[in-house]
Amino acid sequence: MMTGLFKPVKKPVIRHLSAPGGDIGPYRPQYSAKTAPCTAACPSVGDIRGWLTAVADAEANLRTPEQALRSAWEKISARNPFPSVCGRVCPADCEQVCPREAKDGAVAIRAFERYIGDLALELAPISHTPPADVAQGVPSGPVPAVSRLVSTPFRGCDTVSKTGVGMSADAAGTGPEGTPCATSPQPNPCEKWGLGLAHGLTPAVQAAGRREAAVSGAGPAGLSCACQLARRGWRVTVFDAAEPGGFLRALPGLPAEILDREIARITALGVTLRPEPAPGVVAFTDPGGTLAKLPHLIAEGRIAAEAFDNAARGLAPEKRDAPPRVAPDRIKTSWYVEAPRHEEIRNESDAVAEARRCFACGTCMGCGNCWMYCSNGCFEKTPKGNRFKLKIELCHGCSRCAEECPSGYIDML
Ligand code: SF4
Ligand code: SF4
Ligand code: SF4
Repeated sequence: MMTGLFKPVKKPVIRHLSAPGGDIGPYRPQYSAKTAPCTAACPSVGDIRGWLTAVADAEANLRTPEQALRSAWEKISARNPFPSVCGRVCPADCEQVCPREAKDGAVAIRAFERYIGDLALELAPISHTPPADVAQGVPSGPVPAVSRLVSTPFRGCDTVSKTGVGMSADAAGTGPEGTPCATSPQPNPCEKWGLGLAHGLTPAVQAAGRREAAVSGAGPAGLSCACQLARRGWRVTVFDAAEPGGFLRALPGLPAEILDREIARITALGVTLRPEPAPGVVAFTDPGGTLAKLPHLIAEGRIAAEAFDNAARGLAPEKRDAPPRVAPDRIKTSWYVEAPRHEEIRNESDAVAEARRCFACGTCMGCGNCWMYCSNGCFEKTPKGNRFKLKIELCHGCSRCAEECPSGYIDML
């Protein structure tokens, strides 16, 4: 039977109560979390909106500022071991797509990341914590017969996690064709920057024995991979004849001390740096490493580590289908109050003020507009910190709530 000839027809909502005035429209509101533009633009740091709102909403969530900042650090460092480095030199594509730019300046995401990273360097007790879903160490069974893991050509940031890693890929490091980024709008930024086959980046991890892994290359991708493996309980040795840090060593505006301290935090996880070429493997060599690629290199190291660890634990490659990116016209920039951007974040109050500038694109920030504008009383207040309860049976489909939701969280479906 042929399918797809007819568009699905919206069925009317069966209501228990009749809404005053009868139906206005056939669609009903639905809460629908979306990917924020900043997150879609950066493969390495993940939930930017999450770290900002953790700090902005600390009081509402009954957290001290210190707890909120620590939570932000944990969110950042779960994906990126170099927040102080990135906070200084990253090209900050996230800021270029931030809708706040059109109002009074993009949220200073990079400066915020730098503040959190520097704070973490000062507060010695803060360290990388293992992912919640990973028990310490790998299972006690034998290491799978994987002599070498080579990633697919870097066609998309989440290529490796979507397609799995070429378990016995050829020497050129080729594998199944990648798929576009799960979190990025088209065109894929990796392709935009030429991170395709010509990239020369061939991530590989050599299993040197049970619970031990060797990574070749101590640039940002190799160190990111080593960090993520160590967080998952692996003993890691990183081989590189050159000084650790790769092309980051030569960057103007990046003090060597900052790079060294973030690398020291990785070695504090038990990662050993060996100043010699890795025997027989070419991995994480990125002769063309540039600043524009930095977030992608960090992401590639993490993704390779996750894939390696999953394979070693007998788990299928993780699938990550991010929700769609919130459309720019869904953000009601005029609703938010003016607030100057902090080019630099020097202290906690700057950090809180900058975090509060975030529009929380694509999620609920509890502003109450839906509750206020709905004339049918479809939204019910709930305890602080929770979104409003939606009583759909009272709805007559006027769409007002979706139109007035400043962050694009409500869809009419
Ligand atoms: S306003 Fe906030 S959530 Fe939206 S893009 Fe900017 S930083 Fe990200
Ligand atoms: S404002 Fe109220 S009545 Fe109108 S669509 Fe939203 S929930 Fe339904
Ligand atoms: S209008 Fe405000 S409270 Fe209602 S869903 Fe949107 S962000 Fe949340």
